[in-house]
Amino acid sequence: MKGISTPLIRLAKVLSKNFLSHNPSNPYFGTIETTAHCNSGCAFCPYSHYDFTDYTELSTKQVFTIIDQFDEIGIGGYSFLGAENTLRQDVPEIGRYLKEKGIASQLCTNGILLERRAEELVPSVDCVMVSLDSVDRQIYKRIRGVDALPQVLRGIEAALDYAQGNGCAIITNTVICSKNLGQIPDIVEYATNELGVHGMVFDQVTLPENWKNVDRSLDSKINWENHLHTINKIQELKEEGYPILTTSPYFEALKNPQVSFRCRPYLWVTVNHKGEVAVPCYDSEYTKFVSLLGETKLKDIWFSQETKDLRKKVEDCHKCHMMCTIEISKLVGEPFSHMDALYEWVQNAMMMRKRASIPISKPSKAMAAEIKMSS
Ligand code: SF4
Ligand code: SF4
Repeated sequence: MKGISTPLIRLAKVLSKNFLSHNPSNPYFGTIETTAHCNSGCAFCPYSHYDFTDYTELSTKQVFTIIDQFDEIGIGGYSFLGAENTLRQDVPEIGRYLKEKGIASQLCTNGILLERRAEELVPSVDCVMVSLDSVDRQIYKRIRGVDALPQVLRGIEAALDYAQGNGCAIITNTVICSKNLGQIPDIVEYATNELGVHGMVFDQVTLPENWKNVDRSLDSKINWENHLHTINKIQELKEEGYPILTTSPYFEALKNPQVSFRCRPYLWVTVNHKGEVAVPCYDSEYTKFVSLLGETKLKDIWFSQETKDLRKKVEDCHKCHMMCTIEISKLVGEPFSHMDALYEWVQNAMMMRKRASIPISKPSKAMAAEIKMSS
């Protein structure tokens, strides 16, 4: 392992290289769709209705081949993409491979298999992000399609136990939708004071027009007043000292869907389950996929004139309103215009690490309030 500071050094390199360039194109985050299988059936997710015709999944060796190419172009952070990655047996092996290269990794999971697999999964990655959309069993079932809340809560507890001394942060991710608008304070309270998680992030449900079979009644903005009240409430809880990692630019975007931001899709590289990289990004109308498993290498595609031309076509696009798009575009894509938010981001990361270093799994409310962003 090259040390915890390597991802930060890589971030500094990416920021400086992009700052010095008239045409920035150095990515910082990499992600590979390692599976499309899932053991949940979330009403807002296209993986719940995935067409497995001609489906192929990458082998461990192929994943390593792509990670080598990420490493070659200086990726500092990796997130396991897809449906439910804990269904793959080789996640610990992939996590360790990333660690050896000094790439920080985050495993996003619905948490259903965490109780069973925490011991092998937690030490292999730097962060486990568990979806927690409700602490009410019926609402959880309505949103996620499975009656699995007790298992998930036990999974988070197991992950927190195995995280002690491993330097791995255990955080939750709540997708704000019409069914959990009134639940957010309960979720924050429970995750902080009952579970003792190291951080919490919030995302809003996104339902692009081209996604089929998703439940559009889940859009939280349908009830605009409730939506707005909920976002304000989350911000208040953050100010009170709850370990909420989401930054203010994203909250502002949630409160103003017309908010202007310039998407910087060159900052993240997305590779699909066939080993094909998406350029200029995964979701645009111009997207083309190029295989990274043959002669063509990522560095040849990413910095090519053709990709630069495709990026130009999406220069004014702001179709995706997800946290991962907006926060990264603003904070890493325009750091000098968002110094406050970048500072908040770094403070959040430090606060999360600090909570992860506390050798108890259930900090008291007093302690939660004590560990504020400003610490
Ligand atoms: S757990 Fe994740 S991948 Fe699975 S259906 Fe839900 S949102 Fe989709
Ligand atoms: S906002 Fe536009 S350019 Fe950015 S990721 Fe989404 S589709 Fe691509």
